Amino acid sequence: MLNEQILADEGLCNGCRSCEVACSYYLNTKFKPSTSAIIVNRDPKAGKISISFTDACDVCESVNTPLCIAVCLPKALILGRKQDIAVPERNGVMADDQK
Ligand code: SF4
Ligand code: SF4
Repeated sequence: MLNEQILADEGLCNGCRSCEVACSYYLNTKFKPSTSAIIVNRDPKAGKISISFTDACDVCESVNTPLCIAVCLPKALILGRKQDIAVPERNGVMADDQK
């Protein structure tokens, strides 16, 4: 997965946080969202969801499909090479944008 990363489309995210659970299992073999490399925040007042990544994200290099993508039913997360991905006009963020 060299040069590939996770692209999050916050406009598609429903805030289920399944990605956090899956990521924590990948990184720590425990279902503990507080240890996830992907962080989903919902602003209840604005009704807005934001997604960010910590440096712990290795794009799930030891498995074929990143676990966060595998469990995201609305397909709000995408794997691709940075240079090939046009960030969606809505609210796209990439894992390495925040590093
Ligand atoms: S699994 Fe997908 S829809 Fe659910 S919180 Fe994560 S990014 Fe959003
Ligand atoms: S790609 Fe990154 S954020 Fe997603 S499950 Fe793997 S380590 Fe976690």
